[in-house]
Amino acid sequence: MQTLHVDLAERSYPIYIGAGLLSRVDLLAPHIVGRQVAIVTNETIAPLYLQALQDTLAAYRVTPIVLPDGEAFKSWETLQTIFDGLLGARHDRRTTVIALGGGVIGDMAGFAAACYQRGVNFIQLPTTLLSQVDSSVGGKTGINHPLGKNMVGAFYQPQAVLIDTQSLDTLPPRELSAGMAEVIKYGLICDEPFLAWLEQNMTALRSLDQAALTQAIERSCAAKARVVGADEKETGVRATLNLGHTFGHAIETEMGYGVWLHGEAVAAGTVMALEMSYRLGWINADERDRGIRLFQAAGLPVVPPQEMTPEQFMEHMAVDKKVLDGQLRLVLLRSLGEAVVTSDYPAEILSATLAADYP
Ligand code: NAD
Ligand code: MG
Repeated sequence: MQTLHVDLAERSYPIYIGAGLLSRVDLLAPHIVGRQVAIVTNETIAPLYLQALQDTLAAYRVTPIVLPDGEAFKSWETLQTIFDGLLGARHDRRTTVIALGGGVIGDMAGFAAACYQRGVNFIQLPTTLLSQVDSSVGGKTGINHPLGKNMVGAFYQPQAVLIDTQSLDTLPPRELSAGMAEVIKYGLICDEPFLAWLEQNMTALRSLDQAALTQAIERSCAAKARVVGADEKETGVRATLNLGHTFGHAIETEMGYGVWLHGEAVAAGTVMALEMSYRLGWINADERDRGIRLFQAAGLPVVPPQEMTPEQFMEHMAVDKKVLDGQLRLVLLRSLGEAVVTSDYPAEILSATLAADYP
């Protein structure tokens, strides 16, 4: 097992990573305040892991709250059913909310914990690779609004994050690859040696080697924790975590949400960011291609949708959150392992990147 500390002054917390942690009451107990626990999960994950977690928490009064599965349910209505479950079972201010699931469950349960009786104890047990390396770290919680994704929410840090690498055994391979896009992202933005490690270990990771997974998750969480520790509320360096996301969001939106998984769109979007960084003369062709090969090895798409035009890209990118003062800000690579957020580039280079022929 690996333990990592997210350093946020009085909101600091540990992340435990390893195989079989779901049964470790000794890790959970110190982070539970009273006797009441609510486990928020969904219909897909409940049959797989809910009983095991309830057995681990046999000493507590546990209320399971099982939600429907899917991004479409990351909504106000579903949030209300979490409060129904908490109030119906008379949870008081000393209750602990545990999120058992992927990013959808984590974001929603976290927001519920932030709001319930003005804030109760919260623990994350992320079960997708994406949630283990990304959404469970950093304290962003929330729900979608019909007019925008993640538009209603709060910064709310958990007491602890417990990552059981064995939970990935049941994750569909396509979801595993999608999470790997964010893992590779950390190497590209701030940890060049990690890229070499990933090149060596991608096969082991995709065959769910527990030791390799523990290392990759630890290194990813450490990268995110460092960035978030330096900029909790995203006023500066935290934006580098969006490498590939501006191009990627355009793909997700144009293709219709869910057609491309987020990680798939981020992979193709990052290839575009690599191409643009290459065209700016910041990285060379070998470095660009190294990034592309890593996404390919992870089973991810490296070519944006053939049917998407530069105009469609621009239209979606212009409404992206990263537009400040009319200038489109992009996350690009100064070198492999060093991301910058910038709107200072020749407009023709962006146009050429959008019009480029991808292999
Ligand atoms: P998800 O939560 O929808 O999970 C993907 C699918 O896998 C779901 O069908 C889920 O039921 C299933 N699943 C989960 N764990 C499983 C397991 N162990 N075995 C089998 N099936 C399992 O998707 P996700 O990719 O984990 O998260 C995406 C969400 O995370 C989005 O809503 C996004 O906005 C959010 N997000 C938040 C942050 C943040 O900082 N808070 C960062 C990135 C993404
Ligand atoms: Mg992402």
